Amino acid sequence: MILYKRAVDISGFVKKNTHVGKSIGFVPTMGALHQGHLSLIQQAKLENDIVICSIFVNPAQFNEQNDLRTYPRPLESDLPLLISTQCDLLFLPSADEIYPNGLNSLKHYDLGYLENSLEGRLRPGHFNGVVNVIDKFLEILKPDRLYLGQKDFQQVKVIERLLQITRQPCQCIICPIQREESGLAMSSRNIRLTAEQKVHASVIYKTLSFVREHYKKYSLKELQSHAISMVHQAPETAVDYLEFCDAESFHIIHNWNDAEHIVCVAAVKVGEVRLLDNILL
Ligand code: AMP
Repeated sequence: MILYKRAVDISGFVKKNTHVGKSIGFVPTMGALHQGHLSLIQQAKLENDIVICSIFVNPAQFNEQNDLRTYPRPLESDLPLLISTQCDLLFLPSADEIYPNGLNSLKHYDLGYLENSLEGRLRPGHFNGVVNVIDKFLEILKPDRLYLGQKDFQQVKVIERLLQITRQPCQCIICPIQREESGLAMSSRNIRLTAEQKVHASVIYKTLSFVREHYKKYSLKELQSHAISMVHQAPETAVDYLEFCDAESFHIIHNWNDAEHIVCVAAVKVGEVRLLDNILL
C-alpha cells in the first residue's frame, strides 16, 4: 500500500494510471476502521483496478468541538487493517492540505430539504461540511466509483445530491450495514461505549427488526411510538428520532402508502454516544 499525504502527489499517481485505462474505486473514511469500512474496500477491490481509501477526520462536519476532539484516531491499528484488505493507496491529508484557507472558506451547496431534516436539523452545517470534503476528494482523485455505507443513509442521499449538482461522472455504490453479533451496527463511535452500554445499544437493531417484521400490522404512528418506547426500555438510551422515510426521496412519511420503498431511520444516544442505524422495510 502506498501512503500519500499531499493532494498533488496522489492526483499525479491517479492521472498516470487512468491514462492507461485503470479504473479507480474510492472509499472515504474518518478512520478508526472496523469491518464496516473494510467491507467497502473489499467491494471496491472486486470492481476496480486501483482502490484508494482516505482517512480524514473532517473538522468541517463536526458541530461540536468536543466530538471532534474525542473522535478516535488509532492510525497504528488502521494501517495493518488496510494492508490486510490489499487497499492500494491511502490518502492521509492534513486539515491544512484540504482547507488551506481554513474553514471560513467552505463552499455552500444547495442540498434542499436534506440539509435541514433529521440529522441535518440536529447537526446544523454537518452535511455541508460532508459535501465540501467529498467534493474536494472527488476533484483530487476523480474516481470511477465511490463506495458508501447504507449505515449513514441520509449521508448517501446528500452525496448523491452532490454528484447531481456537480455532474461528476462517478458512480455511487451503496454497501450493506455490517453489524456486531448482537446486531449493533459497527461504528467508530462504538469504541466509546462501555461493555454494558454495548448491550443496551443492541436494542436499536432489535427494535428496527421488530419494525420490519410488523410494519403493516399497525398504523405508522402506532408503530413509531411503540418502537420508541421499546428503545427506551433499555437503560441509558434516549431516542433523538425514529422516523419513516421514502427510501428514494428521503422525505419523512406519515402513512405506509406514502412511499413505495420505506426506510426506518433512527438516531439514539446511549450514554454520551450518539448512534445511527436504519433498516429498509
Ligand atoms: P466514517 O468513517 O464513519 O465516516 O464512515 C466511512 C464510510 O464507512 C461511510 O460511507 C459509512 O457509511 C461506512 N460505514 C460506517 N459504518 C459502517 C457499517 N457498520 N457498515 C457498512 N458501512 C459502514
